[in-house]
Amino acid sequence: YLVALEGIDGTGKTTQWTLLADYLEERGLPVVRLREPTQGVWGQKIRKILSEGRGETSAEEELQWFLNDRKEDVEQNIQPALNANKVVVIDRYYYSTAAYQGALGFDPEQICAVNEAFAPRPDRVLIFHGSLEKSLERIETGRDGFSSFEKKDYLKNVQDIFSSFKGVHIRRIDSDGTVANVHRQVVAEVDDLLGI
Ligand code: C5P
Ligand code: MG
Repeated sequence: YLVALEGIDGTGKTTQWTLLADYLEERGLPVVRLREPTQGVWGQKIRKILSEGRGETSAEEELQWFLNDRKEDVEQNIQPALNANKVVVIDRYYYSTAAYQGALGFDPEQICAVNEAFAPRPDRVLIFHGSLEKSLERIETGRDGFSSFEKKDYLKNVQDIFSSFKGVHIRRIDSDGTVANVHRQVVAEVDDLLGI
């Protein structure tokens, strides 16, 4: 199974990713924890422009780097784990690319289609959604050169794109609750998927 945690910055995905993976391991399931952007060469290039600003890199190149990074992740980590019947829990996947790079002007549906040509579709996509103010409070750092006003504007667009995704495998998680409350929602969705 492949479970993706998606949503804007500051919604608590990484915290819940750890709690979910721990929970599944406690239940005796073989879990693989993955995050994108990865620690690979493309992921490192991406993280560099995210922290230092894009500089000479165009938005097209940035998008291509995300795709390159994911192709590597699929080949080296995701597909082998799925082949071995493991439960893959991933902190961000291609819905993030569709939403964040979509908010830069690319067509989100087109980005999803390009990804689905090579990346396995998740069995569940948990989209973390809550008040934008709350998320902004939780974010300490962001893209270099973004004022808090620009950041808010941008993340609102990203959040709207996340909200527009439809499908039977997509579930909304109310991220405004306590860590324990959000964890209960996540576990309910994943238990339902796994039939446990
Ligand atoms: O917290 P995390 O490691 O997921 O942060 C990754 C950063 O990359 C976030 O600041 C997020 O806004 C950004 N990002 C992005 N485009 C993506 C995925 C992440 O700008 N496709
Ligand atoms: Mg995170």
